[in-house]
Amino acid sequence: MPILEALGPSPHRSLPPVPASGRSAAARRLGVLPMPSLEWNESVARETAHLYERIKAVVPAVEWPFFAPYVKAINELKRERNAVILAHNYQTPEIYNCVADVVGDSLQLAREATKADADVIVQCGVHFMAETAKILNPDKVVLIPDVKAGCSLAEAITADDVRLLRARFPGMPVITYVNTSAEVKAESDICCTSSNAVEVVESLGAERVIFLPDEYLAKYVASQTDVKIIAWKGHCEVHERFTGDELRGYRESDPGLMIIAHPECPPDVLAEADFTGSTAKMIDWVRAQKPKRVVMVTECSMAENVQAELPEVEFVKPCNLCPHMKRITLPKILDSLVYLKEEVTVDPVVAANARRAVERMVHLKC
Ligand code: SF4
Repeated sequence: MPILEALGPSPHRSLPPVPASGRSAAARRLGVLPMPSLEWNESVARETAHLYERIKAVVPAVEWPFFAPYVKAINELKRERNAVILAHNYQTPEIYNCVADVVGDSLQLAREATKADADVIVQCGVHFMAETAKILNPDKVVLIPDVKAGCSLAEAITADDVRLLRARFPGMPVITYVNTSAEVKAESDICCTSSNAVEVVESLGAERVIFLPDEYLAKYVASQTDVKIIAWKGHCEVHERFTGDELRGYRESDPGLMIIAHPECPPDVLAEADFTGSTAKMIDWVRAQKPKRVVMVTECSMAENVQAELPEVEFVKPCNLCPHMKRITLPKILDSLVYLKEEVTVDPVVAANARRAVERMVHLKC
C-alpha cells in the first residue's frame, strides 16, 4: 500500500535542552561522591579480566588498560548509587558489554525502564531515550552522560507540527516513533518503535493514520499493511547514508554475503536486503541463522557488539557511526555517577500526556 502523502519538516527544531550549569537538583539532594582512582595496575587487571574476555574479539588488548579502570570504577559506583545502566545496541563494546545492566533497542529499553528497581537510571543512548525513561519513571533520577546526544529524527518534528497535522487531518490517529521529543509524544495517540511499528499501526483499527516522523520507516510499514499512511519527511542521518548501489557492490564481490537492514534505511536499500528488522530483530536473526558472512546495514557499533558474542560469524562493516550515540563514553558515564549529571527532567503535564502514548505501546502484546 503506497504512502498517501509525505509532508515536510518544520524549520523549527527541538534540540535537547542544555541544562543550567552547576549541580543538578539530584546532586544537591543526594550529594557528590569522591572521584575513584583510575590507576591501571595488577589488581585492576585481575578484577576486570572476566570483562575483557567478553570483548577481546573486538577490542585490542592494548586499549584495555585505558578502559579497565573506568569499568571497575563505574561498576562499583553503580552499587553505591543503587543505579542501573541502560545501553542501546549502538553503544561501543566496552559500554555495552562491560558496564551495562540492560541492553537492547528502544522498545526493550523502554520496557526495562518501567521495571527498573533502582534509584538512579543512567541512559547510555540519546536524549529522547532518557526522556522516555524519565516519563516512565517520574520519581527516579534519570541521567544522560552527555545531554547533547540528540537525534536527527527527534529534531525533524515539533509539537506544533503535530498540532498542525491534526488540524489538517481531523480525527486521524497519530502514531509517533519513539525517536521524538516528550512534547511530540504528548501530542500523539500512541508511540511505536521499529520493532512493533506494523503491529501498532494495525492495532488501531483505522483505515488511515498519521505516522511520524521517519519517512522511510513509514514506507516500510506501508509495504507491510493495508492501512493507508500519511508520513513526515524526517530521516535518520545514519541510515539514510546507505545506498542500494553500495549493497549491490558488496553482493557482486561476495555472492555468499547475507545482507540484513534496518527499516530506517531508504527503500532501495531494503530492496537489497535478505532480512529487514529493528536492531533487536537483526540481532536475533544473526543468533538464529549464524550466517558465515553478514553485513548489518545499521550503525556500525552494533556489528561489533554482536561479533563479541558470535566470533564465528564474519561481519562486513560499512562503518556509518551515529555521532550522537558516540558522545557517550566511559569517562562521561563515570562523571554522571559521581556528580549525578546530566539530570533529565520533563514538564509534569507533558510527561503525563507522553506517558499515556508510551504506555499504550508498552502494554500492546507485540
Ligand atoms: S542512529 Fe539515527 S535514529 Fe538512532 S540516534 Fe542516531 S540519528 Fe537518531
